[in-house]
Amino acid sequence: ESLVRSGADDVERAAEAALRPRTLDEFVGQRVVRDQLSLVLQAARRRGRAPDHVLLSGPPGLGKTTLAMIIAAELGTSLRVTSGPAIQHAGDLAAVLSSLEEGEVLFLDEIHRLARPAEELLYVAMEDFRVDVVVGKGAGASAIPLALPPFTVVGATTRAGLLPAPLRDRFGFTGHLDFYETHELERVLLRSAGLLGVPLDGDAAAEIASRSRGTPRIANRLLRRVRDWAEVRGDGMLSLAAARAALEVYEVDARGLDRLDRAVLSALCTRFGGGPVGLTTLAVAVGEEPETVETVAEPFLVREGLIGRTPRGRVALPGAWEHLGLDPLPGPGT
Ligand code: ATP
Repeated sequence: ESLVRSGADDVERAAEAALRPRTLDEFVGQRVVRDQLSLVLQAARRRGRAPDHVLLSGPPGLGKTTLAMIIAAELGTSLRVTSGPAIQHAGDLAAVLSSLEEGEVLFLDEIHRLARPAEELLYVAMEDFRVDVVVGKGAGASAIPLALPPFTVVGATTRAGLLPAPLRDRFGFTGHLDFYETHELERVLLRSAGLLGVPLDGDAAAEIASRSRGTPRIANRLLRRVRDWAEVRGDGMLSLAAARAALEVYEVDARGLDRLDRAVLSALCTRFGGGPVGLTTLAVAVGEEPETVETVAEPFLVREGLIGRTPRGRVALPGAWEHLGLDPLPGPGT
């Protein structure tokens, strides 16, 4: 995730914000989650109460932040945003919580990266709407309970399984976001092109969609790169030819694999003979953090049937060799 984030500079972030759907109706795909959320929100509105806490899980770029914004908007309230890594001490979280107004939505991105003391404080706040403010130090320290107005936490995590059970249990609703179908990404792209006022051909949209790793953020990013190409080297039209030429420049291959994906595959196939190899070893081989390999590259490679996860480590599946244009070696584990 860090890679995805650090790769997105301010310009990219602003461009992304401009393309965010603002209502559940505008949100493309994820039918099941959308339907379930819509019920949760309508029921809460009817009761005039803050809805249950919501946990959203799924790989980066599938719309967790967007959904959190939509939840707040549909409830007619404001959204406060923070993240697990941004909260260094439990006191930071206590400060955020105690400044919440009634009915506000608190978006906690990367909630699985909260430090333990903050996590424990969050349990109490979510369940009893209370924070214990500790005053003093050592033996003389005491906790003063501070009541909070009702609010809703929307937590986001790349994998719900990374959360400790007590925290997971405090969410009344968990929605899992899955990779998008190509036809859904085509809709995302055509909508974005409309908002950006760029002429995108249907077959170009299909081409970009099929190379976007099932991810709207990547689709929108590739759209902007194709627009760059069309404006600088083409005639301004986002045609199929322009899309193909641009994606070639940016080293996005026919299946949508990027440089990191290919590095992982190629390390797995050529350096480790197809595996099994542990995540950390594989990450070192491609010069990335294990978490980046695990959350950014791996879910898509697994979904594409290119690699497998086994108890003994990651293995290359036949499609991986084929994709790299290599003859499969009989790996040590096969
Ligand atoms: P991260 O956890 O990495 O922040 P995320 O899952 O929160 O990722 P978002 O920031 O919500 O992802 O979405 C990324 C981009 O993709 C946004 O610009 C948004 O416009 C677009 N997007 C996401 N989901 C959809 C959707 N269902 N329909 C249209 N656009 C979408």
